[in-house]
Amino acid sequence: MSLSDEELERYARHIVLPQVGGAGQRKLKSARLAVIGAGGIGSAVIPSLAGAGVGRITIIDSDEVELTNLHRQPLFAEADAGKAKAELAAGFVRRLNHFVEVMPQQQRIGPENASQLLSGHDLVIDGSDNFATRLAVSDACVAIGMPLISAAAVQFQGHVGLFRSRPCYRCFVGDAFDADDCDNCAELGVLGAFTATIGSFAALLAINSIVGVGDDQMGQLHLFDGERLDWRSIRIPPDPGCRACGSA
Ligand SMILES: [Zn+2]
Repeated sequence: MSLSDEELERYARHIVLPQVGGAGQRKLKSARLAVIGAGGIGSAVIPSLAGAGVGRITIIDSDEVELTNLHRQPLFAEADAGKAKAELAAGFVRRLNHFVEVMPQQQRIGPENASQLLSGHDLVIDGSDNFATRLAVSDACVAIGMPLISAAAVQFQGHVGLFRSRPCYRCFVGDAFDADDCDNCAELGVLGAFTATIGSFAALLAINSIVGVGDDQMGQLHLFDGERLDWRSIRIPPDPGCRACGSA
């Protein structure tokens, strides 16, 4: 996949990086990513991917914009209240970068449709706001062999991890939260600057993974404490009894 003169100029600050170069930029152009959730995390992930020149981005979100979203979702403006987030986010991508093909999907993703919605991509970034969705997405990614970046932020605690088959996100979370589809942010609160930090980290992890920058982060979970302003990383051990990726 070649780059036009306009793209070479547009991405000049990428291409000058020895870790990226023209080869890395072509990898980004070839990449097909699905982003789940155009919320606080998605509001950081989606512009980063579109600006970076990821070739195709699918945006999956069933919600409409509410006034309580605006403090952490700068994809949207006051006049967008009541409009579909997936369509609005796709419009943002089109205005930012016409080289990106964007596919809005105004659907709620769950166990019944996740495999179908996610197949055909190279990487999924899940920025949804509840455990039930994140576990359903993770299980589908394991089933179809899809790499997954799972990102979450609530109150001042956030985490981002890259999973490829095994260990999976369920190895980390376990089975206790499958019915937990409450909106954590609504119940517990979160700062916009915090969700943006977690979302930006997830986007960086995605871009590094696509281009091949740094070490493979598979199975590594990065945890951020927004009160202490401290990142730490742990390795997720595969759970032998995991019902998604375990040997049983
Ligand atoms: Zn697992």
